[in-house]
Amino acid sequence: MRKLIVANWKMNPESEGEAGRLLRAVLGTAKKKRGIDVIFCLPFPWLTVFTNKEKERVSFGAQNVFWEDSGAFTGEVSPVMLKNSGVEYAIIGHSERRKYLAETDEMVAKKVAACFRNGLTPIICLGGGLSSGDGSAKIKQVLKSQLQGALRHAKKIKKVVLVYEPTWAISTFAGQAVRPGHAAEIAFFLKGVFSRIAAPSLAKATPVIYGGSADEKSGPEILRTGEVNGLLVGAASLDSAKFKKLLSAIHNKEVTNN
Ligand code: PEP
Repeated sequence: MRKLIVANWKMNPESEGEAGRLLRAVLGTAKKKRGIDVIFCLPFPWLTVFTNKEKERVSFGAQNVFWEDSGAFTGEVSPVMLKNSGVEYAIIGHSERRKYLAETDEMVAKKVAACFRNGLTPIICLGGGLSSGDGSAKIKQVLKSQLQGALRHAKKIKKVVLVYEPTWAISTFAGQAVRPGHAAEIAFFLKGVFSRIAAPSLAKATPVIYGGSADEKSGPEILRTGEVNGLLVGAASLDSAKFKKLLSAIHNKEVTNN
C-alpha cells in the first residue's frame, strides 16, 4: 500500500501569504515522492487560495466539518461547501476538538456519515482521551468503542482513513512519539476491528496511520514496521525543512518497499 502523509497545520499560519509560502516550500518535494500520497489539511480560510495546478498530485483536507448539508448553523462549514471547493478529506474527532470543544462520539458519528453522504473522505482520529500510562487492553477497548461509535450512523461505509493518535503523544501535550512496535500492534488491531465492520475489499484498501510527534526520525521508524500505512503530522508539517526531510526519509526504499 502507498504511504499516506497527512499534514495537519492546525490553526496556523496567520496569513494567506505565509500559508502560500509554506505550501510552495514543500509542494515540489511532496509531488515528487513516488509511493507517497500527501494530504494538506489547512484551516478553512486557506483551503481555497490554491490553484488547480498546485492541487495536482497532492490533496487537500479540512480539519473539521459540520454534520448538516446546509441551514441555520452559524459558524459551521458544511460537507457540501467543502466538496464544492475541491476539498477531498476532513479530519474528524481530533483529540484537541474532543478536549477543547467537547466533541463527542455522537458528533463524530454524525460528521462521518455526512462525509460519506457527500463524497468526502473522513480521516477519523481514534485515541482521544488516552493517557500515557494506559495499558494495551484499555487502549484497545477505547479504540474499538471509538471506531464502532464513529461508524454507527453510516448507512454504507465508504473510503476512510483511520488514525491511531493517543492524546498524550501529540507534541503539544507530552510530546513523545509511541514505540514503533506499539504503533504496529495497534494498527494491526484496528485493521482487525474494521474488517469485521466493513466490506473485505474496503478493509484491505483502508490505510491505518499513526499520529503524535512524528518527525523525520520517529516517522520512518514507525513506517518501517510495515503495519502502519502512514502518518498524521502536526508540528513537523509547519517546518518546511523538517517536513521535506520526513518525506525524503520515508521515500527511502527500506520504508516504501514495505
Ligand atoms: C496532531 O495533533 O494531529 C499531530 C499529529 O500533532 P503533532 O505531530 O504536533 O504531535
